[in-house]
Amino acid sequence: MKLYNIKQHDEQVTFYQALIQGLGKDQGLFFPVDLPKFSALEINSMLEMNFIERSVHILSTYIGSELSKNSILSCVQNAFNFPVPLVFIKNNIAILELFHGPTLAFKDFGSRLMAQMLNKVNHQFDKPMVILTATSGDTGAAVAHAFVDLSNIHVIILYPKGKISVLQERLFCTLGGNISTISVDGDFDSCQFLVKKAFEDNILRQILDLNSANSINISRLLAQVCYYFEGISQLPHQMHNKLVIAVPSGNFGNLTAGLLAQSCGLPVKKFIVATNMNDTVPRFLKNGYWEPHPTVSTFSNAMDVSCPNNWPRIEELFRRENRSIKELKYGCVNDMLTEKTVQEISDLGYLSEPHTAVAYRLLSDQLDSDEFGICLGTAHPVKFKELVECFLKKKIQVVLPVSLKERMRLPILSYETSKCFSSLRNLILKIVS
Ligand SMILES: *Cc1c(COP(=O)(O)O)cnc(C)c1O
Repeated sequence: MKLYNIKQHDEQVTFYQALIQGLGKDQGLFFPVDLPKFSALEINSMLEMNFIERSVHILSTYIGSELSKNSILSCVQNAFNFPVPLVFIKNNIAILELFHGPTLAFKDFGSRLMAQMLNKVNHQFDKPMVILTATSGDTGAAVAHAFVDLSNIHVIILYPKGKISVLQERLFCTLGGNISTISVDGDFDSCQFLVKKAFEDNILRQILDLNSANSINISRLLAQVCYYFEGISQLPHQMHNKLVIAVPSGNFGNLTAGLLAQSCGLPVKKFIVATNMNDTVPRFLKNGYWEPHPTVSTFSNAMDVSCPNNWPRIEELFRRENRSIKELKYGCVNDMLTEKTVQEISDLGYLSEPHTAVAYRLLSDQLDSDEFGICLGTAHPVKFKELVECFLKKKIQVVLPVSLKERMRLPILSYETSKCFSSLRNLILKIVS
């Protein structure tokens, strides 16, 4: 697989390089040189396959000879080891539940596949591989669970002390083994600042092979292409060409993956871009001006992003295929309407949460009578239990997965540090030695 840097087209890399490097020169995103195309016949036979077999087929078509089919198979089997049900909540709308992974959000797909793939290429390096990342809560959990037991890769996660929820902290700070967590006496920005300093630090770079495992990595997008196919495979054939998919969006990785799936032949009629009041993209699609406002906090906090870092990939895809960005439907939903929508969905007998509700609102409002809608369910309602209970004015009964319940009782294993970089450096060196 060959990829180029969107900002400097002459910088080309292999899949391995893009996987390890993440970003190209000038912070440019990598984009595939060749976009695979499957015929309608091939798509139909792919939709007959099971999730694992089909995902191997899709990934090996993209990646080519750099990873053998068998290697991809073992990555996929280890990464995608949880169900992806499509749940019909109305005669014309279904929710694709992407939250049955270990950290109860769709980010498990991308993080887990990336971890498995890095584990495959890791033997080529002579320095210890260290994943260093800062989290405000959710990403850290997804990354930690993705890498746990891949013992030749160290994972170090920084988080702001006292500023993440109890459930979040227990979720990723109790794992031990190759997963180390550090609570920093500061806020999320100071964690991010420390991580940035570490990547620039010559002492650390000499000794370690640092990787950030963040969401712009191409392997994470490819993982997500696979579940769009899985969702559609669960629909009757006659609905295929009337299909509208609503994507709750923050950094726009999820939408990028959906558009890639459509580009290689998956029958989707249109996509709806759904944001909360951090609506840079809906405003851009409406009036053509890219004008990010300061980020505001909303109920759907994983979508509180005003400068979405995957957006250039979406523009690149439309440019490459001579399509107009105007094809995208869009909208934004404020907190009040999000709350009302969680109630409305609950009246249909389905428990949702704010992110999913944002997408459902726009889907339900914009769906034509001859269309069928899929709304991506990106997080498990239990992750937002307090909020959802407050919206519905009642206690909700959700069964926490057993593994999670047990985890809630384990001790926190985190190290602590100040905002001072040299003490972080010493701590990192101690952890990996
Ligand atoms: C990250 C996240 C999103 C946004 O996905 P992007 O790919 O960043 O657009 C939506 N919902 C939930 C629950 C998330 O964690």
